Amino acid sequence: MPDDAFILRSARGIPYYSCREFESLPGVRHAFSTRAGGLPDLPSPLLTLRQVHSNRVCVVELPPGAWDPPEGDALAAAHPGAALGVRSADCFPVLVADPVAGAVAAVHSGWRGTLAGIAAETVGALGRAFGSRPGDLHVAVGPGIRSCCFEVGPEVADAFAAGYPGTARPAPGRPGKFLLDLPRVLEAQLEAAGVARGRRYDSGLCTFCNPRDFFSYRREGAAAGRMMSVIALG
Ligand SMILES: [Zn+2]
Repeated sequence: MPDDAFILRSARGIPYYSCREFESLPGVRHAFSTRAGGLPDLPSPLLTLRQVHSNRVCVVELPPGAWDPPEGDALAAAHPGAALGVRSADCFPVLVADPVAGAVAAVHSGWRGTLAGIAAETVGALGRAFGSRPGDLHVAVGPGIRSCCFEVGPEVADAFAAGYPGTARPAPGRPGKFLLDLPRVLEAQLEAAGVARGRRYDSGLCTFCNPRDFFSYRREGAAAGRMMSVIALG
C-alpha cells in the first residue's frame, strides 16, 4: 500500500481527502471530508442513511424522488447521478466503485458493522443488484480510529480474535485492554470477498491521532461532529 494512496484536495478552499486511484476511474466522483466539511460538487442531492452499526445494505434501484433515509449501514446504486454518503467519526468509511458495471457504494463500518461483515455484504449486494464482479471492484478505506489508538475490552477483542487472529493485541501497560486493528479485519474480509489486493486502498489515517483534520468520537465524546464520505456517478 503506497503511503500516498490518499491526498488532500480542496473544494472552494476547504480541504478533503481523495483516494488517488479513484480519481482515474471514469465517471466516479468521491471525497472523504475532514472536520472542515468541504466536499466537491455532486451531480444530485446526497442520499444518506440512518446508520445503526448493522450489516444491512440498502440498494437504490432507481433515482429516488423524495428521500426518506432508510435504516442501514451501506448504500449501493447504479443510476446516473447517484450520490451516496456515510457519516463517521472513528468508524471507517468505505467507498466502493465498479467502473465495469457502473455501480458505487458507500459503507459505514465501525467495530460492530465490521464484525457483522458489512463490507463483504456490500460486495455481495452489488453482485446481486447490478451484476458487479468482485474482481472489478475498487475499494477505498478512509480515515478511522486505527490500532495505534483503538482500545477495546476483552469481550470485543475476543469477538475479533475468533475470526481474525492477530487483529487484537494487548495494549502496552494497560492490563485487560487490547488494541484492535479494524483496517486489517477489513482487508481480510475484502480479500475473502474476492476484491483484488491491488484494488484495495487504505488511507492509513487515524481519526484519533489527527485532531486537526478529523472528528473523533473517542477523543471528543458525544458532542463530536461527523465527517461525510461520498461517492457519486457522473
Ligand atoms: Zn491513532
